[in-house]
Amino acid sequence: MTDPSSFHTNSDAASRHEASNNLHLEVSVSRHATFALCCFVLIVPAARGQQASLDALIDREMPSLLSTYKSLHAAPELSHHEQKTSAFVAGELRTLGYSVTDHVGKYAGHPEWAGYGVVGVLRNGQGPTVYVRTELDALPVEEKTGLPYASKVRAKDDEGREVGVMHACGHDIHITSFLGTAKMLVATKEQWRGTLVMLAQPSEEAISGARAMLDDGLYTRFPRPDYVLALHDWAGLETGKVGYTPGYVLASSTSVDVTLRGVGGHGSAPQLAKDPILEAAEFILAIQTIVSREDSPFDPAVVTVGSIHGGTRPNIIPDQVHLQLTIRTYKEEVRQHILAALARMAQGIAAADGIPPSLSPTVTADAGDYSPATYNDPQLTARLAQVFKTALGPENVIELPPIMASEDFCRFALEDRQIPICLFALGAVDPAKLAESRRTGVPLPGLHSSLWAPVPEPTLRTGVKCMTSAALDLMKK
Ligand SMILES: [Zn+2]
Ligand SMILES: [Zn+2]
Repeated sequence: MTDPSSFHTNSDAASRHEASNNLHLEVSVSRHATFALCCFVLIVPAARGQQASLDALIDREMPSLLSTYKSLHAAPELSHHEQKTSAFVAGELRTLGYSVTDHVGKYAGHPEWAGYGVVGVLRNGQGPTVYVRTELDALPVEEKTGLPYASKVRAKDDEGREVGVMHACGHDIHITSFLGTAKMLVATKEQWRGTLVMLAQPSEEAISGARAMLDDGLYTRFPRPDYVLALHDWAGLETGKVGYTPGYVLASSTSVDVTLRGVGGHGSAPQLAKDPILEAAEFILAIQTIVSREDSPFDPAVVTVGSIHGGTRPNIIPDQVHLQLTIRTYKEEVRQHILAALARMAQGIAAADGIPPSLSPTVTADAGDYSPATYNDPQLTARLAQVFKTALGPENVIELPPIMASEDFCRFALEDRQIPICLFALGAVDPAKLAESRRTGVPLPGLHSSLWAPVPEPTLRTGVKCMTSAALDLMKK
């Protein structure tokens, strides 16, 4: 199912989804009044030119932020369908006085998907243009945290399957931190100058939303950024802390489809067939040597086979086997080498197995399911690390190693790293539980797990404080 209007079918799933979102909207509407009132209260001292204390401002905002977070958590929406989340964010930014454009985003080749990107602009004199980015989407995961505000939402994914929906990547933490930051930067307007652009991006999990917004003229319809900032909740870091990684922080991600073809037949007569199941087994083992034997040990890379489908019965040799792979690298040349090696090995194994050239394998990288590596501008990252140390104390700011997960945040840097970007890590885990896990070696639930439950406070407080401090520093008078 790809048309967002299909949410309003008569199926149980759609009704439950709608009911949940209606609830979310009611909560949001009633909170609007509170938000507007607090905004007024906050702006008054700023207008008097008093030196605002960010901690005090955030303290005052925490109850509202926690309630926003829980409302968002209970009403997640899948990638390409972030209709209500997007409307909520746009409404909050408008209430705060931002000049807001919604429905930003065009998905190449998918006119049926609406672009739910939101851009809120706050002009405050001459100065740099700073973008602060959040994601809007959630995942097809059935929540099992048992939290009082756990999601019970079910919806149909783009393939029409009914799935549970959960903010299992913490994008609800990001949206809430983003809205808190948007508010703090209104309240502290006398301390900075420049143009602040609050950017809410759809479909990060499908790594398609950033591109859709850029393809819809993000940097021509709105001011071109001097810096783009983002945060992501981090499973291996205590709440109250942030982490930074200069240079490569996240890997490129490439999805690859492989179809290995053979000649089907009776399971009792393999000599009369060409068995693609055996071919798949050989292929899976062979490609493990790309990273271990062909790549430099100094160039991290991952080749994972995430799905394999072939055959129907024990006594039938099928005609083909279909595999889906994910490839992760930092360097583009390593990615290109892996893609070439996959094709070479598939062809070579087919030839060795005597499969006729007319049935040769196909190896296809999915251009739509690809994201480049995320490279944090080292200078910008060093500057922000210093800002965070001042904001949180040096003991709460940790340099982290890069990981092989992926994001489409990198797209906002444009080709050849034209615009400095930085994505930093927001600690989200109970320190006692993390210490226990390190002691016992038993891992805690991570991102995308049905049990992922970031500790809302002080995670949100830390997110708002660090993102606000970062923007204030980059735009300081
Ligand atoms: Zn994710
Ligand atoms: Zn995420």
